[in-house]
Amino acid sequence: GGAAALRESLCRELAARGLEREVLVVSTGCHGLCEMGPVVVVYPEGTFYCRVGPSDVAEIVEEHLFKGRPVERLVYRDESKVSVPRYSEIPFYRKQRRIALRNCGYINPDNIDEYIARDGYVALIRALRESTPRQVLEEVTASGLRGRGGGGFPTGLKWGFCAGAAGDKKYVICNADEGDPGAFMDRSILEGDPHSVVEGMALGAYAIGADEGYIYCRAEYPLAVRRLERTIEAAMEYGLLGPSVAGTDFAFHLHVKEGAGAFVCGEETALMASIEGRRGMPRPRPPFPANRGLWGCPTNINNVETWANVPAIVRNGGAWYAALGTEKSKGTKVFALTGKVNHTGLVEVPMGTTLREIVFEIGGGILNGRKFKAVQIGGPSGGCLTEEHLDLPVSYESLAQAGAIMGSGGLVVMDEENCMVDVAKFFLEFTQAESCGKCPPCREGTKKMLDILNRICSGRGRPEDLDALEYLATMIKETSLCGLGQTAPNPVLTTLRYFRHEYEAHIDEKR
Ligand code: SF4
Repeated sequence: GGAAALRESLCRELAARGLEREVLVVSTGCHGLCEMGPVVVVYPEGTFYCRVGPSDVAEIVEEHLFKGRPVERLVYRDESKVSVPRYSEIPFYRKQRRIALRNCGYINPDNIDEYIARDGYVALIRALRESTPRQVLEEVTASGLRGRGGGGFPTGLKWGFCAGAAGDKKYVICNADEGDPGAFMDRSILEGDPHSVVEGMALGAYAIGADEGYIYCRAEYPLAVRRLERTIEAAMEYGLLGPSVAGTDFAFHLHVKEGAGAFVCGEETALMASIEGRRGMPRPRPPFPANRGLWGCPTNINNVETWANVPAIVRNGGAWYAALGTEKSKGTKVFALTGKVNHTGLVEVPMGTTLREIVFEIGGGILNGRKFKAVQIGGPSGGCLTEEHLDLPVSYESLAQAGAIMGSGGLVVMDEENCMVDVAKFFLEFTQAESCGKCPPCREGTKKMLDILNRICSGRGRPEDLDALEYLATMIKETSLCGLGQTAPNPVLTTLRYFRHEYEAHIDEKR
C-alpha cells in the first residue's frame, strides 16, 4: 500500500533534519482501517494521520515533529468532516474490542522485545511455572472460546480430546491457509502480531502434551511467512521455544510449512496430508485428528485467530473472556469488512454486536449514500443476509438460524446495485473451481448448479431451474465428504430464500 516507500522517505527526512535520534520510526502491522492507509500515528499524543504519501513527509516532519503543530489536512476526519485526532475517538475503533488484534498496529512484529513489553509470553512463562497442563486446559474451557476458523467447535473440548488420546508423540497445528475471497483476518494477525500465535500454540502444546507444531501458511502470504520464520528464530534465541522452554522441562519445536494455494487444504485432514507431502485431499472421519492426525499421531488443529486469543485468555483467566459475548458465543470475533461500505478494514467486536453496528457505525454506512441490500457473511461457505437481519446480534447460533454461518469472518457488503444471482454465481464459481474432485456430489453437483446459474444469468433460464437448484443444493450438502462441499451451496440457498424474486426476474425477463 506504499507504506515501505513512506517509511523510507520519513527516515531520510528525519536524518536530513538531524532528528533521527529524537524520533523513533517503528513499522507496525495493519491498523485495520485499510481504506485510510497508509497510516502514520505520532506518539505520545497519538495523532492519527491517514492516506499519507511520501510527498507529505516533509510537512509532517517540519510542522509536527519539529514545531509541534499537527498537520490538520492529514488528520483523520469523520463523516461530518470534523478532525478526530486520536485512535480512541475514531468511530471505526470506538465500538471495537481488540483481543486477537490487541497488538496489531502497536508493535513492530519483528521485534520480540516489543511483544514482551506488552505482556507477551507472560502467560506462557507463568503457566509453565505455576500451572499444570490440566489447569491451562480448564482455563481455556472456562473461557468458552470456540474455533474461529469456521466450525465454531469448543476449543477446550477439542484440546481435551487430544490431551486424552493415547500416544507419546502429539502435534499442534496452526491452520493459516486462509483462502476465502475477501478475508484477511489471519494474514493481518500473522503480519502484525506473529508472537501471539506462537505463544498460543506453545500454551496449547503444553496443555495437550505435544512437543512439536506446524504453522501451515499459504505461500501467497510471503510477508506472513517471513515474519513467522523470524518470530520462531527470535523465540528460540530467547529460550521460549526449543528443548527447554523458559528453563523448564517442557520442549516445544515449531516449523512453518507453506501451502501451495489449494483452498481445500484449509480442511483439517487435507491440510495434514499436505504437510506429510501428499496430495491435499480430505479423508473421511473418523478417525479424527485428535486420535489419528499428523503421521498417525494425536493432533490438535486450530486457526490463527483461535491461537492468538489463547495467551490473553490464559493471562487474564477464562472468566474474563467468558464475560464478553452472548450466552453460547463468548468473546470477540474478527471480521474482514469489505464491499460497498465506506470504511473497509479489519474489525474485532464482541459476539452479539449487531450487523447494523458493524456495517453502519463501524463501517460508516454504504458507499456513495446508496441503499444497503445484503451482506455475505462467512465467505463462500456462508450466506447472504438482508436488511431484516441488520439488528441480528451476530453469534454462531443466530447466523445458523438465518441460514448463514460465521465462517472465518468474511463480511462482504452489497448495495442496491448488486445482483444477488451474480453474487451466488461468483461464490459457487469459486467453490466449484476449488473442489478437489474426490467425491461426486461436490465434483459433479456444483458443476451442474453452476451450469444452471450460467443459464439463468445468460437469459436461458427455465422456471423449473429453481427447483433443480434447490434439489441439487440439498443433495450436495447432505452427501459431500468434507466441509467445502457441505457448505458450497449456502450462497445459492440463502439468495434463493431471501432474493428468489431476483432469480424469477432473470427468468421472466427473457421469456
Ligand atoms: Fe473434495 Fe468437494 Fe468431496 Fe471435499 S466435498 S472431498 S472438496 S470433492
